[in-house]
Amino acid sequence: KLSRRLESVAAFIPAGTVLADIGSDHAYLPVFCVKDGSVTAAVAGEVAEGPYHSAQKQVEKAGLTEKISVRKGDGLEILAPGEAGCITIAGMGGALIASILDRGKAKLNGKETLILQPNTGSHIVRGWLAENGWAVTGEDILEEDGKIYEIIAAEYAGRHVVLTEAERLMGPVLIKNQNEAFRKKWRNEIKKWQSVLSHLEQADASPEIEEKKRVYRHLIALAEEV
Ligand code: SAM
Repeated sequence: KLSRRLESVAAFIPAGTVLADIGSDHAYLPVFCVKDGSVTAAVAGEVAEGPYHSAQKQVEKAGLTEKISVRKGDGLEILAPGEAGCITIAGMGGALIASILDRGKAKLNGKETLILQPNTGSHIVRGWLAENGWAVTGEDILEEDGKIYEIIAAEYAGRHVVLTEAERLMGPVLIKNQNEAFRKKWRNEIKKWQSVLSHLEQADASPEIEEKKRVYRHLIALAEEV
């Protein structure tokens, strides 16, 4: 059984495709999706030795070595161009996900569905997508074990995609369908920013402090408005 977080990632995977799961660790996601028949075959990519071996073991244990290719390497370098119809990158920071996509651009043919689950910095991921012509087509946000996770699905639009500042920060789809996890996340963020701001307000004035105060006031206003 998958975690709720990975279940939500799996729910965005188009049926009958070839899945590439980058940073697969135990290969739970590809094993689950090939087993239940939702994808025809999969590639599990891992850059680190330990997780790469865990993935191999898990795939062998499931008897799926014919259908899941476990490969060691950095990001998308393990893929042939156009090999995968769907690429998942989950459980990493948003900056790392954006860097994997950016360095692997040449491997994308624009027909893929990208499903990204940044643990932090989801605005960096949405920024990369928008600047590189990918439109956010689906999003989810959920709480599991006291942590809040965001899932972003994207398709190639072939043109510069415009996101408002609020959409980049909070997610265009998530803003439209605000659920309890979304409200909780942003209530918490606003509280954190307000606390930082009140500390800054007690500090001696300097151009840097003034600039920081401006940034935090702006973020608070943006999130409160949404
Ligand atoms: N994707 C799984 C999940 O969501 O449960 C595992 C997440 S795990 C926290 C992150 C994995 O990404 C680690 O196993 C790490 O070795 C791998 N990783 C980090 N950078 C990578 C890269 N550039 N290419 C491939 N794998 C990477």
